[in-house]
Amino acid sequence: MKIFTTKKEIAQYFTHKENKIVGFVPTMGALHQGHLSLIKQAQQNSAEVACSIFVNPTQFNDPKDLEKYPRPIAADIAMLEQVNCDILFNPTVNEIYDDNEKWHLNIGDLEHLLEGEFRPGHYQGVTQVVYKLFSIVKPDVAFFGQKDYQQFMVISKMVELLNMPVKLVMCPIQRESDGLAMSSRNIHLTPADRSNALILSKTLNWVKYNFNADDIPALKQQAELMISNQPGIELEYLEIVDGKTLHPATANTKSIVALVAARAGKTRLIDNMLIA
Ligand code: AMP
Repeated sequence: MKIFTTKKEIAQYFTHKENKIVGFVPTMGALHQGHLSLIKQAQQNSAEVACSIFVNPTQFNDPKDLEKYPRPIAADIAMLEQVNCDILFNPTVNEIYDDNEKWHLNIGDLEHLLEGEFRPGHYQGVTQVVYKLFSIVKPDVAFFGQKDYQQFMVISKMVELLNMPVKLVMCPIQRESDGLAMSSRNIHLTPADRSNALILSKTLNWVKYNFNADDIPALKQQAELMISNQPGIELEYLEIVDGKTLHPATANTKSIVALVAARAGKTRLIDNMLIA
């Protein structure tokens, strides 16, 4: 695997390449099977696959979360080599940002819904870094996880607004065998948090399998209760929404997604499930 830490090295590498389809998987590292599933999907759809590992400071609204974000770079490199990833881009913060850089993109109400409400400024940081990474790596196709469903919508919106020549692919959520969605933050869970956190995927499954049994407001209320009644879990939101707008679903909505965010002890977790 080629490892690059500067924009210049990446640019130089790609000037010597023929017209091969480049697939790109941006990550913040602390890789798990969810990330590797994106790499594998990228390998099936592109001639060359680049992964980036960059813990992006501008998307953290909580400085403690940024500080304690795991950074096991040696283990990450070993995992990428094991799955034959072609390129790793692993820049420093100074390589990506100048001092006091300004960024704002009008992403409409995606900015304030769901994650946007609980993590103010988060999606400005996400679009800022993904814009930069796309401009540096210049991928033909980029792969993102459904785990961050709203993030995929935000990046799609940015690509549309800025006419960026990249195709986006959403890849399914990878889960542990007991249903917990894989996440780099799971290593912060105590054994009790880890077991309490199972209520998130259980509740999403419950919504999916009871979807025709009741109306949407009643399902939402019942699902919120299931999570709120779980000791050690603090619910931030559970919403059953139109998968295209993220506005509350109605009886006539065609594509429906249930999304949840909650704290398990000190760790903030998100999960979602396609319902219809
Ligand atoms: P992160 O390192 O958390 O920024 O995630 C990098 C990419 O991996 C994003 O596109 C995530 O949506 C995706 N991802 C994270 N967790 C999972 C998972 N459990 N299953 C599938 N994709 C995931």
